[in-house]
Amino acid sequence: MEFFYRCAVCERTYDISPRVMLCPQCSQVQQDGRPQRGVLDTVLNAERGRYTVEELSGGHPPWSRLLPVEARYFPDVPMGPTPLWAPARLREALGMPNLFLKDDTVLPTGSLKDRASLLVAAFARRHGVMEIVVASTGNAACSMAGIGAAAGIRVTIFLPGTAPRAKLVQALQYGARVVTVEGDYDAAYAASLEHLSAKSLSRNTGYNPLTIEGKKTVMLEVYGQLGRMPDAVFVPTGDGVILGGVYKGCEDLVQLGLADAVPKVYAIQAEGSNAISRALRDGSFAPAGHRAPTLADSIAVRAPANGHGAVRRLVQHGGECVEVSDEAILAAQRELSSRTGLFAEPAAAAPLAGLHAVRETTGSDSVVVLLITGTGLKDVESAARGLPLPPRPEGA
Ligand SMILES: *Cc1c(COP(=O)(O)O)cnc(C)c1O
Repeated sequence: MEFFYRCAVCERTYDISPRVMLCPQCSQVQQDGRPQRGVLDTVLNAERGRYTVEELSGGHPPWSRLLPVEARYFPDVPMGPTPLWAPARLREALGMPNLFLKDDTVLPTGSLKDRASLLVAAFARRHGVMEIVVASTGNAACSMAGIGAAAGIRVTIFLPGTAPRAKLVQALQYGARVVTVEGDYDAAYAASLEHLSAKSLSRNTGYNPLTIEGKKTVMLEVYGQLGRMPDAVFVPTGDGVILGGVYKGCEDLVQLGLADAVPKVYAIQAEGSNAISRALRDGSFAPAGHRAPTLADSIAVRAPANGHGAVRRLVQHGGECVEVSDEAILAAQRELSSRTGLFAEPAAAAPLAGLHAVRETTGSDSVVVLLITGTGLKDVESAARGLPLPPRPEGA
Protein backbone atom coordinates (compact mmCIF):
# COMPACT_ATOMS: atom_id res chain seq x y z
CA MET A 1 0.00 0.00 0.00
CA GLU A 2 1.20 3.48 -0.79
CA PHE A 3 0.39 6.81 0.80
CA PHE A 4 0.88 10.40 -0.22
CA TYR A 5 -0.51 13.84 0.61
CA ARG A 6 -2.84 15.72 -1.70
CA CYS A 7 -4.21 19.22 -1.41
CA ALA A 8 -7.98 19.15 -1.60
CA VAL A 9 -8.05 22.54 -3.29
CA CYS A 10 -5.30 22.52 -5.95
CA GLU A 11 -4.86 18.72 -6.06
CA ARG A 12 -1.08 18.96 -6.01
CA THR A 13 0.46 15.89 -4.39
CA TYR A 14 3.35 15.68 -1.92
CA ASP A 15 5.48 12.97 -0.36
CA ILE A 16 4.70 12.35 3.30
CA SER A 17 7.59 13.93 5.20
CA PRO A 18 8.15 15.98 8.39
CA ARG A 19 8.84 19.02 6.20
CA VAL A 20 5.37 18.97 4.65
CA MET A 21 2.42 20.09 6.72
CA LEU A 22 0.21 22.49 4.76
CA CYS A 23 0.03 22.83 0.98
CA PRO A 24 2.78 25.42 0.36
CA GLN A 25 0.69 27.11 -2.34
CA CYS A 26 -2.78 27.13 -0.84
CA SER A 27 -1.67 28.06 2.68
CA GLN A 28 -0.39 31.37 1.27
CA VAL A 29 -3.91 32.77 1.17
CA GLN A 30 -4.39 32.30 4.93
CA GLN A 31 -6.46 35.07 6.54
CA ASP A 32 -6.30 35.86 10.25
CA GLY A 33 -9.16 34.48 12.28
CA ARG A 34 -10.29 32.03 9.58
CA PRO A 35 -9.86 28.26 9.40
CA GLN A 36 -6.49 26.95 8.27
CA ARG A 37 -5.95 26.98 4.50
CA GLY A 38 -4.10 24.25 2.64
CA VAL A 39 -4.83 21.33 5.00
CA LEU A 40 -3.66 18.19 3.21
CA ASP A 41 -5.49 14.91 2.75
CA THR A 42 -3.61 11.65 3.17
CA VAL A 43 -4.35 9.50 0.15
CA LEU A 44 -4.23 5.74 0.19
CA ASN A 45 -3.24 3.99 -2.99
CA ALA A 46 -4.53 0.42 -2.89
CA GLU A 47 -6.19 -1.95 -5.28
CA ARG A 48 -9.93 -2.26 -4.84
CA GLY A 49 -11.12 -5.68 -3.73
CA ARG A 50 -7.59 -6.86 -2.98
CA TYR A 51 -7.83 -7.05 0.84
CA THR A 52 -10.22 -8.68 3.31
CA VAL A 53 -11.31 -7.24 6.66
CA GLU A 54 -9.36 -10.03 8.40
CA GLU A 55 -6.16 -9.04 6.63
CA LEU A 56 -6.51 -5.38 7.52
CA SER A 57 -8.12 -5.21 10.95
CA GLY A 58 -5.32 -6.79 13.02
CA GLY A 59 -2.00 -5.42 14.20
CA HIS A 60 -0.99 -2.67 16.60
CA PRO A 61 -2.83 -0.41 16.46
CA PRO A 62 -5.73 -2.30 14.87
CA TRP A 63 -6.00 -1.50 11.15
CA SER A 64 -2.41 -0.21 11.16
CA ARG A 65 -1.86 -1.51 7.64
CA LEU A 66 -4.04 1.39 6.54
CA LEU A 67 -1.83 3.93 8.33
CA PRO A 68 1.08 5.66 6.59
CA VAL A 69 3.83 4.62 9.06
CA GLU A 70 5.30 1.11 9.34
CA ALA A 71 4.00 -0.88 12.34
CA ARG A 72 7.42 -1.19 14.02
CA TYR A 73 7.53 2.52 14.85
CA PHE A 74 4.35 2.59 16.93
CA PRO A 75 4.97 2.91 20.68
CA ASP A 76 3.64 -0.03 22.67
CA VAL A 77 0.77 1.66 24.57
CA PRO A 78 -2.53 -0.17 24.02
CA MET A 79 -4.72 1.54 21.41
CA GLY A 80 -7.99 -0.25 20.83
CA PRO A 81 -10.13 -1.64 19.55
CA THR A 82 -12.13 0.26 22.13
CA PRO A 83 -15.49 -1.15 23.23
CA LEU A 84 -18.49 -0.74 20.94
CA TRP A 85 -21.35 -1.67 23.15
CA ALA A 86 -25.10 -1.85 23.46
CA PRO A 87 -26.41 0.36 26.28
CA ALA A 88 -29.67 -1.45 27.16
CA ARG A 89 -31.26 1.19 29.40
CA LEU A 90 -30.39 4.07 27.08
CA ARG A 91 -31.71 2.09 24.10
CA GLU A 92 -34.96 1.57 25.92
CA ALA A 93 -35.29 5.21 26.96
CA LEU A 94 -34.75 6.40 23.39
CA GLY A 95 -36.71 3.62 21.74
CA MET A 96 -33.66 2.78 19.63
CA PRO A 97 -32.82 -0.92 19.82
CA ASN A 98 -29.79 -0.56 17.52
CA LEU A 99 -28.00 2.24 19.32
CA PHE A 100 -24.30 1.77 20.14
CA LEU A 101 -21.68 3.66 22.14
CA LYS A 102 -18.11 3.73 20.88
CA ASP A 103 -16.22 4.23 24.11
CA ASP A 104 -12.91 6.00 23.54
CA THR A 105 -12.73 7.12 27.18
CA VAL A 106 -10.78 3.89 27.79
CA LEU A 107 -7.80 4.94 25.66
CA PRO A 108 -4.53 5.44 27.60
CA THR A 109 -4.90 9.17 28.33
CA GLY A 110 -8.70 9.14 28.34
CA SER A 111 -9.63 10.58 24.96
CA LEU A 112 -9.89 9.79 21.26
CA LYS A 113 -6.94 12.18 20.72
CA ASP A 114 -4.66 9.22 21.50
CA ARG A 115 -5.36 7.80 18.05
CA ALA A 116 -3.78 10.84 16.41
CA SER A 117 -0.97 11.12 18.96
CA LEU A 118 0.01 7.50 18.36
CA LEU A 119 0.39 8.05 14.63
CA VAL A 120 2.28 11.32 15.10
CA ALA A 121 4.62 9.69 17.65
CA ALA A 122 5.29 6.77 15.27
CA PHE A 123 5.94 9.21 12.45
CA ALA A 124 8.36 11.23 14.63
CA ARG A 125 10.27 8.06 15.50
CA ARG A 126 10.37 6.97 11.89
CA HIS A 127 11.98 10.29 10.93
CA GLY A 128 14.19 10.77 14.00
CA VAL A 129 12.31 13.87 15.21
CA MET A 130 13.21 14.67 18.83
CA GLU A 131 10.50 17.11 19.85
CA ILE A 132 6.77 17.38 19.24
CA VAL A 133 4.99 20.69 19.80
CA VAL A 134 1.25 21.02 20.30
CA ALA A 135 -1.36 23.60 21.21
CA SER A 136 -4.56 22.35 22.71
CA THR A 137 -7.48 23.09 24.98
CA GLY A 138 -6.33 20.10 26.97
CA ASN A 139 -6.92 16.64 25.60
CA ALA A 140 -4.60 16.80 22.58
CA ALA A 141 -1.87 18.11 24.85
CA CYS A 142 -2.21 15.47 27.56
CA SER A 143 -2.58 12.85 24.89
CA MET A 144 0.60 13.85 23.10
CA ALA A 145 2.37 14.14 26.46
CA GLY A 146 1.37 10.61 27.48
CA ILE A 147 1.96 8.89 24.16
CA GLY A 148 5.18 10.89 23.74
CA ALA A 149 6.34 9.63 27.13
CA ALA A 150 5.77 6.05 25.98
CA ALA A 151 7.61 6.76 22.74
CA GLY A 152 10.54 8.57 24.39
CA ILE A 153 9.93 11.86 22.58
CA ARG A 154 10.12 15.32 24.15
CA VAL A 155 6.76 17.09 24.10
CA THR A 156 6.19 20.83 24.47
CA ILE A 157 2.61 21.98 24.86
CA PHE A 158 0.87 25.33 24.70
CA LEU A 159 -2.26 25.52 26.83
CA PRO A 160 -4.75 28.35 27.21
CA GLY A 161 -5.04 29.55 30.79
CA THR A 162 -8.66 28.37 30.75
CA ALA A 163 -7.85 24.66 30.29
CA PRO A 164 -9.34 22.43 33.00
CA ARG A 165 -6.83 21.92 35.81
CA ALA A 166 -6.83 18.13 35.60
CA LYS A 167 -5.70 18.31 31.98
CA LEU A 168 -2.81 20.61 32.94
CA VAL A 169 -1.81 18.32 35.80
CA GLN A 170 -2.05 15.26 33.59
CA ALA A 171 0.25 16.76 30.95
CA LEU A 172 2.81 17.75 33.61
CA GLN A 173 2.57 14.32 35.17
CA TYR A 174 3.68 12.72 31.90
CA GLY A 175 6.74 14.97 31.92
CA ALA A 176 5.77 17.40 29.17
CA ARG A 177 7.06 20.96 29.06
CA VAL A 178 4.00 23.17 29.51
CA VAL A 179 3.68 26.78 28.40
CA THR A 180 0.45 28.47 29.47
CA VAL A 181 -0.74 31.19 27.14
CA GLU A 182 -2.82 34.22 27.97
CA GLY A 183 -6.02 34.01 25.95
CA ASP A 184 -7.86 31.09 24.47
CA TYR A 185 -7.06 28.08 22.33
CA ASP A 186 -6.65 30.14 19.17
CA ALA A 187 -3.94 32.17 20.95
CA ALA A 188 -2.18 28.98 22.12
CA TYR A 189 -2.30 27.67 18.56
CA ALA A 190 -0.55 30.77 17.23
CA ALA A 191 2.10 30.67 20.00
CA SER A 192 2.88 27.01 19.29
CA LEU A 193 3.56 27.68 15.61
CA GLU A 194 6.02 30.42 16.55
CA HIS A 195 7.93 27.97 18.75
CA LEU A 196 8.47 25.41 15.95
CA SER A 197 12.03 24.84 14.75
CA ALA A 198 13.60 22.71 12.04
CA LYS A 199 14.06 19.86 14.52
CA SER A 200 10.55 19.80 15.92
CA LEU A 201 7.25 18.59 14.59
CA SER A 202 3.80 20.11 15.15
CA ARG A 203 0.97 17.91 16.27
CA ASN A 204 -1.51 20.76 16.03
CA THR A 205 -4.82 19.30 15.18
CA GLY A 206 -5.82 19.88 11.57
CA TYR A 207 -2.45 21.46 10.80
CA ASN A 208 -0.55 18.19 10.79
CA PRO A 209 -2.46 16.00 8.29
CA LEU A 210 -1.65 12.88 10.31
CA THR A 211 -3.98 14.07 13.08
CA ILE A 212 -6.88 13.50 10.71
CA GLU A 213 -5.48 10.26 9.38
CA GLY A 214 -4.80 8.85 12.87
CA LYS A 215 -8.38 9.40 13.97
CA LYS A 216 -9.85 7.39 11.12
CA THR A 217 -9.14 4.19 13.05
CA VAL A 218 -12.18 4.87 15.25
CA MET A 219 -14.41 4.39 12.21
CA LEU A 220 -12.46 1.42 10.91
CA GLU A 221 -12.94 -0.25 14.28
CA VAL A 222 -16.68 0.50 14.31
CA TYR A 223 -17.01 -1.07 10.87
CA GLY A 224 -15.05 -4.15 11.95
CA GLN A 225 -17.03 -4.52 15.18
CA LEU A 226 -20.46 -4.15 13.56
CA GLY A 227 -19.53 -6.17 10.48
CA ARG A 228 -21.11 -3.36 8.43
CA MET A 229 -21.34 0.40 8.23
CA PRO A 230 -23.74 1.96 10.72
CA ASP A 231 -26.61 4.03 9.33
CA ALA A 232 -25.60 7.11 11.28
CA VAL A 233 -22.69 8.36 13.39
CA PHE A 234 -22.83 11.28 15.85
CA VAL A 235 -19.52 13.15 16.16
CA PRO A 236 -18.73 16.00 18.57
CA THR A 237 -17.16 18.75 16.48
CA GLY A 238 -14.85 21.62 17.34
CA ASP A 239 -11.92 21.81 14.90
CA GLY A 240 -13.58 19.18 12.71
CA VAL A 241 -10.62 16.82 12.82
CA ILE A 242 -12.47 13.88 14.37
CA LEU A 243 -15.19 14.52 11.80
CA GLY A 244 -12.58 14.49 9.02
CA GLY A 245 -11.11 11.27 10.42
CA VAL A 246 -14.51 9.59 10.62
CA TYR A 247 -15.20 10.46 6.99
CA LYS A 248 -11.69 9.41 5.93
CA GLY A 249 -12.16 5.99 7.54
CA CYS A 250 -15.42 5.58 5.65
CA GLU A 251 -13.88 6.71 2.38
CA ASP A 252 -10.99 4.25 2.74
CA LEU A 253 -13.43 1.38 3.33
CA VAL A 254 -15.46 2.35 0.26
CA GLN A 255 -12.30 2.80 -1.82
CA LEU A 256 -11.07 -0.67 -0.79
CA GLY A 257 -14.39 -2.17 -1.82
CA LEU A 258 -15.21 -3.29 1.74
CA ALA A 259 -18.20 -0.98 2.24
CA ASP A 260 -20.77 0.31 -0.24
CA ALA A 261 -21.56 3.73 1.11
CA VAL A 262 -20.63 6.39 3.65
CA PRO A 263 -23.10 6.60 6.57
CA LYS A 264 -25.02 9.70 7.57
CA VAL A 265 -22.74 11.75 9.79
CA TYR A 266 -24.07 14.30 12.27
CA ALA A 267 -21.54 16.89 13.39
CA ILE A 268 -22.58 18.07 16.84
CA GLN A 269 -21.53 21.59 17.80
CA ALA A 270 -22.18 23.71 20.84
CA GLU A 271 -24.45 26.70 20.12
CA GLY A 272 -21.74 29.03 21.42
CA SER A 273 -19.02 27.51 19.23
CA ASN A 274 -20.76 26.74 15.96
CA ALA A 275 -18.40 27.98 13.22
CA ILE A 276 -18.67 24.83 11.09
CA SER A 277 -22.44 24.73 11.40
CA ARG A 278 -22.70 28.37 10.33
CA ALA A 279 -20.34 27.87 7.40
CA LEU A 280 -22.31 24.85 6.21
CA ARG A 281 -25.43 27.00 6.28
CA ASP A 282 -23.92 30.19 4.83
CA GLY A 283 -21.48 28.68 2.34
CA SER A 284 -18.38 30.34 3.82
CA PHE A 285 -16.58 31.07 7.08
CA ALA A 286 -17.15 34.44 8.69
CA PRO A 287 -14.14 35.94 10.50
CA ALA A 288 -13.93 34.51 14.00
CA GLY A 289 -15.63 36.53 16.72
CA HIS A 290 -14.06 37.19 20.09
CA ARG A 291 -15.12 34.19 22.09
CA ALA A 292 -16.20 30.61 21.64
CA PRO A 293 -18.32 30.31 24.76
CA THR A 294 -19.33 26.82 25.72
CA LEU A 295 -18.52 24.84 28.84
CA ALA A 296 -17.61 21.93 26.55
CA ASP A 297 -13.96 23.03 26.34
CA SER A 298 -12.92 20.35 23.86
CA ILE A 299 -15.25 21.72 21.19
CA ALA A 300 -14.70 25.43 21.96
CA VAL A 301 -12.90 27.02 19.01
CA ARG A 302 -13.36 30.24 17.07
CA ALA A 303 -11.58 29.35 13.83
CA PRO A 304 -11.76 25.57 13.41
CA ALA A 305 -8.46 24.25 12.03
CA ASN A 306 -10.07 21.71 9.73
CA GLY A 307 -13.14 23.85 9.07
CA HIS A 308 -12.80 23.89 5.29
CA GLY A 309 -12.23 20.12 5.10
CA ALA A 310 -15.12 19.46 7.47
CA VAL A 311 -17.59 21.50 5.44
CA ARG A 312 -16.35 20.01 2.16
CA ARG A 313 -16.96 16.48 3.40
CA LEU A 314 -20.31 17.27 5.00
CA VAL A 315 -21.48 18.68 1.67
CA GLN A 316 -20.00 15.84 -0.36
CA HIS A 317 -21.54 13.09 1.77
CA GLY A 318 -24.80 14.73 2.81
CA GLY A 319 -23.87 15.14 6.47
CA GLU A 320 -25.63 17.51 8.84
CA CYS A 321 -24.68 19.87 11.65
CA VAL A 322 -26.69 19.98 14.83
CA GLU A 323 -26.23 22.74 17.41
CA VAL A 324 -26.90 21.99 21.05
CA SER A 325 -27.05 24.28 24.09
CA ASP A 326 -24.81 23.90 27.13
CA GLU A 327 -27.92 22.98 29.16
CA ALA A 328 -28.69 20.16 26.70
CA ILE A 329 -25.07 19.02 26.88
CA LEU A 330 -25.13 18.88 30.69
CA ALA A 331 -28.46 17.03 30.65
CA ALA A 332 -27.08 14.52 28.13
CA GLN A 333 -23.93 14.12 30.20
CA ARG A 334 -26.00 13.22 33.25
CA GLU A 335 -28.33 10.98 31.27
CA LEU A 336 -25.42 9.10 29.73
CA SER A 337 -23.80 8.54 33.13
CA SER A 338 -26.96 7.59 34.97
CA ARG A 339 -28.28 5.25 32.29
CA THR A 340 -25.07 3.60 31.10
CA GLY A 341 -22.41 4.00 33.78
CA LEU A 342 -20.22 5.99 31.42
CA PHE A 343 -18.95 9.35 32.68
CA ALA A 344 -18.06 11.41 29.61
CA GLU A 345 -16.78 14.98 29.48
CA PRO A 346 -19.25 17.59 28.19
CA ALA A 347 -17.95 17.54 24.59
CA ALA A 348 -18.20 13.75 24.58
CA ALA A 349 -21.80 13.85 25.76
CA ALA A 350 -22.77 16.32 23.03
CA PRO A 351 -23.51 13.48 20.55
CA LEU A 352 -26.31 12.26 22.84
CA ALA A 353 -27.69 15.80 23.05
CA GLY A 354 -27.53 15.89 19.25
CA LEU A 355 -29.35 12.59 18.93
CA HIS A 356 -32.16 13.94 21.13
CA ALA A 357 -32.41 16.96 18.85
CA VAL A 358 -32.92 14.87 15.70
CA ARG A 359 -34.56 11.82 17.30
CA GLU A 360 -37.84 12.36 15.46
CA THR A 361 -36.21 12.18 12.07
CA THR A 362 -34.01 9.19 12.91
CA GLY A 363 -35.56 5.81 12.14
CA SER A 364 -36.09 3.77 15.31
CA ASP A 365 -34.44 0.72 13.76
CA SER A 366 -31.41 2.61 12.45
CA VAL A 367 -28.00 1.39 13.50
CA VAL A 368 -26.67 4.50 15.23
CA VAL A 369 -23.27 5.04 16.83
CA LEU A 370 -22.46 7.79 19.33
CA LEU A 371 -18.75 8.59 19.58
CA ILE A 372 -17.92 9.03 23.26
CA THR A 373 -14.64 10.83 22.83
CA GLY A 374 -13.32 11.59 26.32
CA THR A 375 -13.68 10.82 30.02
CA GLY A 376 -15.56 13.13 32.39
CA LEU A 377 -13.04 12.73 35.19
CA LYS A 378 -10.73 15.40 33.76
CA ASP A 379 -13.33 18.14 34.09
CA VAL A 380 -15.51 17.58 37.13
CA GLU A 381 -16.13 21.33 37.49
CA SER A 382 -18.27 21.43 34.34
CA ALA A 383 -20.24 18.35 35.31
CA ALA A 384 -20.81 19.82 38.77
CA ARG A 385 -22.69 22.72 37.19
CA GLY A 386 -25.44 20.33 36.17
CA LEU A 387 -25.66 18.56 39.52
CA PRO A 388 -27.44 19.23 42.82
CA LEU A 389 -24.36 18.90 45.07
CA PRO A 390 -25.15 17.93 48.67
CA PRO A 391 -24.56 20.68 51.24
CA ARG A 392 -21.32 20.44 53.22
CA PRO A 393 -21.81 19.31 56.81
CA GLU A 394 -21.56 22.08 59.45
CA GLY A 395 -17.98 22.91 60.36
CA ALA A 396 -16.47 20.99 57.42
C1 LIG B 1 -10.87 17.21 20.61
C2 LIG B 1 -12.12 16.65 21.12
C3 LIG B 1 -13.32 16.78 20.43
C4 LIG B 1 -13.47 17.57 19.15
O1 LIG B 1 -12.67 17.14 18.08
P1 LIG B 1 -12.33 18.13 16.88
O2 LIG B 1 -11.43 17.37 16.04
O3 LIG B 1 -11.71 19.34 17.49
O4 LIG B 1 -13.61 18.47 16.21
C5 LIG B 1 -14.44 16.18 20.96
N1 LIG B 1 -14.39 15.52 22.13
C6 LIG B 1 -13.25 15.39 22.83
C7 LIG B 1 -13.27 14.66 24.12
C8 LIG B 1 -12.07 15.95 22.35
O5 LIG B 1 -10.95 15.83 23.07
